[in-house]
Amino acid sequence: MHFGLTEEQLLIQDTARRFAAEDIAPTLEQEERAHEFRADRVARMGGLGFFSCAVPEEYGGSGMGFLESVLMAEQIAKVSASWRLPFNMQNLGPSLTVCRFGMPAQKQKYVPGWVAGTQLGFFAMTEPNTGSDVASMRSYALDQGDHWEVHGGKIWISQAHVGDAGLLYAYTDRAAGNKGITAFIIEPKNMPGCSARPIETKLGLRCAPTGEFTFDGMRVPKENVLGKPGDGFRICMWQLNQTRLGCAAGALGVAGGALDLAIRYANERTQFGKPIGQHQMIQAQIAELAVEHQAAQMLVYRAAWLKDQHQPNQYETSVAKYAAAEAAVHAANECMKIYGSYGFSTEYPAERFYRDAKSLQVVEGTSNIQKVIIAGMALGHTPNRE
Ligand SMILES: Cc1cc2nc3c(=O)[nH]c(=O)nc-3n(C[C@H](O)[C@H](O)[C@H](O)COP(=O)(O)OP(=O)(O)OC[C@H]3O[C@@H](n4cnc5c(N)ncnc54)[C@H](O)[C@@H]3O)c2cc1C
Repeated sequence: MHFGLTEEQLLIQDTARRFAAEDIAPTLEQEERAHEFRADRVARMGGLGFFSCAVPEEYGGSGMGFLESVLMAEQIAKVSASWRLPFNMQNLGPSLTVCRFGMPAQKQKYVPGWVAGTQLGFFAMTEPNTGSDVASMRSYALDQGDHWEVHGGKIWISQAHVGDAGLLYAYTDRAAGNKGITAFIIEPKNMPGCSARPIETKLGLRCAPTGEFTFDGMRVPKENVLGKPGDGFRICMWQLNQTRLGCAAGALGVAGGALDLAIRYANERTQFGKPIGQHQMIQAQIAELAVEHQAAQMLVYRAAWLKDQHQPNQYETSVAKYAAAEAAVHAANECMKIYGSYGFSTEYPAERFYRDAKSLQVVEGTSNIQKVIIAGMALGHTPNRE
């Protein structure tokens, strides 16, 4: 077993660490206060190859794999969980899914822009009455001969109202159950009948835009079906298994970032005549976080490695996502406690880590849904797949 990173991976990790320190950190707190999203930053991240993992070179790929993507996303999330989102919205979601299921013309048209970060991507499953139970979605598309006409709406969609092109899942044959869901590539700004608006009430991830779509007879060209009509549920489950890893990498970064903050403060803050890090109970808190962080790191890196080896990994990806999300929330919670009153202040970053961490127990399948997946495979009810 080899746990070391290659020279190239260390370089990539360092590039992401420096980007977070030099491009994101200096203006982050004011952007957080203003709920500001920076499309120019997505393009700079794309320019550095952050969104190129597992994409063929002809569509902008750089030869990097999932492990490299995880290493970069982790470093970004250590500074800002919001800025981890584009890894999913540009690369692991739309790009990889279109590369896997798309026609050559679809790949040529959409993937290079997502990878470069110049075309903002998204993927839309969730609806007001549909979250974990994806097949209960209500949005549908009618076959109008030369185009599809989409009706319904989506909610809680990252990059919806800023998005240029992304994935939409909707029913084309309700009688066929989940085999009647179809995946489409949509361009919200160019397709009549689509409107989008931001959700401005989010607890955290304030620099990562989240929005809603309304489809009122949105016209989608026939050539924008991804795969075949009826393939949508299978495509969606495949996509979630990739984007779940991105979320796990973000959670790992948040857990590591909160641990670093807690350690720094425990060494600085003095009470009862010594740094609080010399009190045994603070040491116990730090030790727990260090263990959970390291365990999550091994699990996330392993899931990424399995993907790079094209081995079954759904089980390991869900295990990694569950463990990392729980570790992130625990780390942020303990970090706030270690900061005392300053943990409760918006002048210090501990509370931001906590607000952001809570999203990681929800997105790409809640912690309960990860347990459903893990138990189903552990009990032999469902196979572990790639
Ligand atoms: C910041 C943010 C960004 C998001 N981005 C996107 C995006 O880009 N695209 C997108 O499509 N969606 C996105 N979502 C939506 C997210 O994926 C859903 O919120 C998530 O899948 C949960 O769905 P729900 O909120 O409807 O909860 P529900 O599915 O209604 O679940 C409610 C509760 O019931 C539990 N539960 C449900 N079913 C079971 C079960 N079988 N067993 C045990 N417990 C169960 C859940 O764990 C949860 O605790 C985003 C959400 C957030 C907060």
